[in-house]
Amino acid sequence: MSETIKIHKLLVANRGEIALRIMRSAKEMGIQTVAVYSEIDRNAMHVRFADEAHCIGPAPSSESYLRMDKIIDAAKKSGANAIHPGYGFLSENEDFADLVKENGLIFVGPSGDSMRTMGSKLAAKEAVAKFNVPLVPGTSTPITNVDEAKGIAKKIGYPILIKASAGGGGKGMRVVENEAEFQNQMERAISEATASFGDGAVFIEKYIAKPRHIEFQVFGDQHGNVVHLFDRECSIQRRHQKVVEEAPSPVLTPELRKKMGEAAVNAAKAAKYYNAGTIEFILDEDMSFYFLEMNTRLQVEHPVTEMITGLDLVKLQIKIAEGEKLPFTQNQLAIHGHAIEVRVCAEDPTNNFLPDIGKLQTYRRPQGHGVRVDDGFEEGMTIPVQYDPLLAKLIVYAETRELAMDKMVRAISDYEITGVATTLGFGAFVMKHEAFRSGNFNTRFIENYFKPEYLQQQADEDLEKVVAALAVTVSAPASSSATSQVVARPSSKWKKNRV
Ligand code: ADP
Ligand code: ADP
Ligand code: MG
Repeated sequence: MSETIKIHKLLVANRGEIALRIMRSAKEMGIQTVAVYSEIDRNAMHVRFADEAHCIGPAPSSESYLRMDKIIDAAKKSGANAIHPGYGFLSENEDFADLVKENGLIFVGPSGDSMRTMGSKLAAKEAVAKFNVPLVPGTSTPITNVDEAKGIAKKIGYPILIKASAGGGGKGMRVVENEAEFQNQMERAISEATASFGDGAVFIEKYIAKPRHIEFQVFGDQHGNVVHLFDRECSIQRRHQKVVEEAPSPVLTPELRKKMGEAAVNAAKAAKYYNAGTIEFILDEDMSFYFLEMNTRLQVEHPVTEMITGLDLVKLQIKIAEGEKLPFTQNQLAIHGHAIEVRVCAEDPTNNFLPDIGKLQTYRRPQGHGVRVDDGFEEGMTIPVQYDPLLAKLIVYAETRELAMDKMVRAISDYEITGVATTLGFGAFVMKHEAFRSGNFNTRFIENYFKPEYLQQQADEDLEKVVAALAVTVSAPASSSATSQVVARPSSKWKKNRV
């Protein structure tokens, strides 16, 4: 493809923070924006922010945000010539990418064929192996015969992990500690995979006991050029899903970064990849790295990469989709400073990170130098149960990791959310924890170090500090009502506070 076609009107097939984040960049580029929304999102921020908005059905995503036909219809009605899928929903659906193109529209993302290769973990492994990208020891085809699979598991050595080839979002994974558990766990894995992904193919991987999750942002253009935009450390996870991410990783040496970066670029080339993508690796204790999977879309945690590279990844995605060449080569890219993101999810860390619902009674964002908040909600709004529990992403940027952690602690303490439980307090716990501060941690951080009581302790300590400060500064009885207001804040901030 050689000619470029300008995007003049962009439909964003998503909601929440990511829909807003994409539209902001589009607006800056002089591109008209079109929102789609479900009935429950009628008053959502992304609907008001867009130049125009189209209702695509009832609240359940299967009747709205996942309805390809309705989204294409909305694009045609509005005269949009491109669709950005965001993340989640239809973003990794290859049929949707194809359908967008068949309708004469530009898909802001990779080709359907690249997604087909990378969407299946098994097909992805097969493709990247040819480019000498190291894989976690395991099977390369779906398990069909239990006895044969047991033999392979024995060779690899327990514990092993049974994984769904079509899996995503941390779902469809089972650790098997020994042979006695094998058959039972495999049957459960297959039925889970069938129910969640409509594809029962499962395979075996060696279970790496203390891994770090380190991923590389890659970018390709439609002219065959591919670069990486360095790494992100995403080892702080619950249920195999990320909660805190940072860039760059505190453990990569320049040599290892170069080696993993080259492997990431090769993996992308194996899928003839263009636009934004992420190559996920796990890093073993002995610093061996293995390819896990590729995410063929913009990642939730892309802002930390934006901070350390100074690039706007959505603008870059749009230009690549228009057919432009990458505006830089690998050698022109460098890391500047350090960035950390905390996912502010409507989840209760004191109750197993279970999703929480309710109304945002208080919602005040932190501000200041190096603080960025990407969100999609505002005070008074109710968090719908139908969708992802991500409320906002709090991102900080500073010259060093140390300064970034300190900034995050401050930003979290300035963030006021009441009405729903959030992961903010957990974020503060991580920022202050010795293991995180030293850089010596892995994906088992939560099970190794976290106890829900710590959050209560933290809140109580903060409360004591406020009381002590007030004891010094408050003298006149007239201020007693102000006192009770201030005192009420720290303990309620990270907990449920429904009235
Ligand atoms: P990332 O890899 O970008 O850090 P996640 O893996 O947590 O993010 O997933 C990104 C988004 O996509 C989340 O909103 C998650 O709920 C959603 N998601 C991921 N995989 C699936 C899936 N297979 N089915 C439905 N939603 C998914
Ligand atoms: P998903 O598609 O759900 O994101 P991934 O293959 O990317 O699935 O794995 C998600 C997380 O599960 C990883 O970040 C890591 O924490 C853990 N994990 C995956 N594979 C292994 C493994 N072989 N050994 C140990 N942990 C693993
Ligand atoms: Mg993954």
